[in-house]
Amino acid sequence: MNYKAALQNPVFKIISQSAKELQLDSYVIGGFVRDYILERGTAKDIDIVAIGSGIELAKQVANNLPTKPKVQVFKTYGTAMLRYNDIEIEFVGARKESYQEDSRNPIVEDGTLEDDQNRRDFTINALALDLNEDRFGVVLDPFNGLADLDNAIIRTPLNPDITYSDDPLRMMRAIRFATQLNFKIEDESLKAITRNNDRIKIITKERIVVELNKILESTTPSIGFLLLEQTGLLKYILPELTALKGIDEVEGQRHKDNFYHTLEVVDNIAEHTDNLWLRWAALLHDIGKAPTKKFNKKVGWTFHGHEFEGSKMTYRLFKRLKMPLNDKMKFVQKMVLMSSRPIVLAQDIVTDSAVRRLIFDAGDAVEDLMTLCEADITTKNPKKFKKYHNNFKIVRDKIVEVEERDHVRNFQPPITGEEIMQTFNLKPSREIGIIKDSIKEAILEGDIPNEYEAAFELMLKEGKRLGLQVVS
Ligand code: ATP
Repeated sequence: MNYKAALQNPVFKIISQSAKELQLDSYVIGGFVRDYILERGTAKDIDIVAIGSGIELAKQVANNLPTKPKVQVFKTYGTAMLRYNDIEIEFVGARKESYQEDSRNPIVEDGTLEDDQNRRDFTINALALDLNEDRFGVVLDPFNGLADLDNAIIRTPLNPDITYSDDPLRMMRAIRFATQLNFKIEDESLKAITRNNDRIKIITKERIVVELNKILESTTPSIGFLLLEQTGLLKYILPELTALKGIDEVEGQRHKDNFYHTLEVVDNIAEHTDNLWLRWAALLHDIGKAPTKKFNKKVGWTFHGHEFEGSKMTYRLFKRLKMPLNDKMKFVQKMVLMSSRPIVLAQDIVTDSAVRRLIFDAGDAVEDLMTLCEADITTKNPKKFKKYHNNFKIVRDKIVEVEERDHVRNFQPPITGEEIMQTFNLKPSREIGIIKDSIKEAILEGDIPNEYEAAFELMLKEGKRLGLQVVS
């Protein structure tokens, strides 16, 4: 089979020509070929295998390109990379790999194209296109990767137990590809992942998070999380989620399975946002329910304070996984902490003051919070489903209306602590906080407008109540 059409970018002719000048064979391999056949859009990465030195080939190609790009050499890996337009091209010499028990970094020696295809993780990632002039575009498919692409199957080229044990990151990659491409992991592979799941411990947290993020960024992230759970990997990576599994029953009262509920919420939110951190928030919004779960004879199952507990757990989870402890983490924490607020609102009559408080507390994240809460509606009762969505629609409209009128988003009270100190000739003290708070409360409650004059009046009134003297 010939895939010349995949090689229309003029850079391939230049690589072919450069390899010829160095008298070596070269191939495009891996994700580029896979994604071309799957019609997944134009690739940003191209991987080239040279039967010989990949670094030398990269230098030759750079020389022959009109843009004369810089070649980045990674000596320890024997690879080189250059950028052409907005494409990253990576060069490697064909290699044979052997592994040791305690590391995913193999011992490497020079090899043939077959050796190089053998070391690839999946049959669909081992496809290569010949770049040699007289065989330009011919596909080399030793493991029936084309058939697996057709049948939507993830399969390892060699014995899966060895493949996964050698480099356990491949277990995450298998699940990630199954999620991104909506492919099935072949049965033997799935069993091998389950048998080798504890090997995930040798993989760095950063690598695991890269794969988790890719799963979360997929159209249907639940595919990946179900596979992670089914293979036993999830308990090593996100035990907070496995702790949500199961339904308890006491005196005939049951609660919902919060693990499956969470996955529904994540799939729902994926339909409405590409924001990775909002998707993380959906994944973590109920993690506080496991440690706060209690049964009470009168009210049944309760999860009091799970939002607060969940936001604390979010910090610890990010820290453990070496994820950024920055404003993204704080955003996820805030979403988890506030995840029940709009629900309470939507169950009742929606008052202006409740909406003002919501906008004040959520700030710029208020729309994201609404998106999360809408995704959280997983009831199978169509009447309730419609009612909750309608209520949220009312809340959303009210948010716009109240914000236009009262400007409480990122609101700063019109009277500062400084001004209170000057008015009453005070040193920093408890009274200042009391006055500031009552002004804020009055504005949020709608007792006074969010304006200077009214706030000044209230300050004077409050000062008098506290027995303070105005200095002239
Ligand atoms: P994506 O760009 O979506 O991550 P990709 O397949 O291009 O997909 P890369 O990580 O760029 O992924 O890897 C390029 C190629 O290198 C893969 O197609 C595969 O052939 C090979 N590969 C990558 N990681 C591994 C691994 N851990 N074990 C074996 N082969 C791998």
